[in-house]
Amino acid sequence: MRMLLHACCGPCSLEPTRILAQEGHTFDIFYANSNIAPRAEYERRLNTLRAFAQTIDVPVIEGAYDPAAWERTVAPVGESLLARRDAEAARARELGHAPTSVGELLDDEHRRERCRLCYRMRLKEAARQAKAGGYDALTTTLAVSPYQFTDVIREELDRAAEQAGVRAYFEDWRPFYDEATRRSRALEMYRQPYCGCRFSIAEAEATRAFIREQQHERKLRKQAEQAESRARAEEERQRKAQKKRAYAEKQRRKRAVLKRLRAQEAADKRAAAEATDAQDGGTAGAGTGAVSAHEHATRAAAAARE
Ligand code: SF4
Repeated sequence: MRMLLHACCGPCSLEPTRILAQEGHTFDIFYANSNIAPRAEYERRLNTLRAFAQTIDVPVIEGAYDPAAWERTVAPVGESLLARRDAEAARARELGHAPTSVGELLDDEHRRERCRLCYRMRLKEAARQAKAGGYDALTTTLAVSPYQFTDVIREELDRAAEQAGVRAYFEDWRPFYDEATRRSRALEMYRQPYCGCRFSIAEAEATRAFIREQQHERKLRKQAEQAESRARAEEERQRKAQKKRAYAEKQRRKRAVLKRLRAQEAADKRAAAEATDAQDGGTAGAGTGAVSAHEHATRAAAAARE
């Protein structure tokens, strides 16, 4: 088939163009994205897309860039949804219900309504272009990103194609998102940090801040856990050191007692030996000398006991 491929940016075009070509289709790329703000960002994405399209020799047709029309058509819904979401978030905060996931933070149901109108506007323009250019079918790279509402994209593609009288060719290219990310990085393509509209700039920033906050909380929790386990390990180390010191002290006391007992034993032996010698001497005729020697030995034994 000869198709018109509506493209939102270069990175999201990488896989659809490869797959369509492999399937034997021919196609032109249509860049219709009045949602992108500011203009410099719109041009940067277009230039990235053009540079890539040149490498595969596919023409890029630029639609009208009409941010004022987007502001008239989509932004009022975005504003009222934003006000509703902020009010609900404030109520939730009052009740102490902090969001626990990015989805909850951004409230997908609110965004869904705004994004539907945004898809509608762009795909309507693309369907008109496909009809005017005599293409067999219209398809879109919007179905690459898992951050978009794929079911809504499909509904809006069908709707726009039907209204324009062209065939809708829907492909869910989300399974190729990771490969598109890898290749776009390898090709050093410009990769935009937000979807496109001014609301999405704030949402992307809120998402990043939320993720940073959650990472910080995880880090603090981990540090607290580590500190707790370090304290437990220190406590265990202290307990073992205390036990070791108590054992060493017990051993020291034991050695001291044994030393005293051995000294006592030696002194007793000496005293006994001297007493025997004195007695032997006394029997030989030195009575007073024998008594003194015995006293001397007794004193020595007592001194050893002290
Ligand atoms: S988030 Fe993206 S799809 Fe949704 S309204 Fe904004 S630019 Fe459009």
